[in-house]
Amino acid sequence: MVGTPQIRMTKQRQVILEELCKVTNHPTADEMYQMIRKRLPKISLGTVYRNLEILSELGMVLKLDVGGTQKRFDANVENHYHARCKDCGSVSDVHMPVSLDVEAKAQSCTDFDIQRHTLEFVGVCPDCQEAGRRMDA
Ligand SMILES: [Zn+2]
Ligand SMILES: [Zn+2]
Repeated sequence: MVGTPQIRMTKQRQVILEELCKVTNHPTADEMYQMIRKRLPKISLGTVYRNLEILSELGMVLKLDVGGTQKRFDANVENHYHARCKDCGSVSDVHMPVSLDVEAKAQSCTDFDIQRHTLEFVGVCPDCQEAGRRMDA
């Protein structure tokens, strides 16, 4: 059985990455667990969580620390912007070009060696807007 755990880890990691690539809703570790469990019924939440952390350390997934709530994960590791719903906490991509100007400006205002920036917009998602309209009616 020597070496088996490592192979199993790799397979689990692969499934986690595959499942994350299928979605664009930036799932939490819990949500990932629900998805992964359908393919690997014996996997534990801790294993999913640990593998997500490893994948993010390897730069293969993006870990989003948005709004101080649960961490969310993204298969798109290119810098891009996000919008967070203040009502339900969902996170969506905002398809606009990343502004490198911001980094240059920041660089001129600080002694930090600026390497990247993140930007999070906060608002109300379409589903919650819809729910709000239903409540008003
Ligand atoms: Zn919402
Ligand atoms: Zn994203």
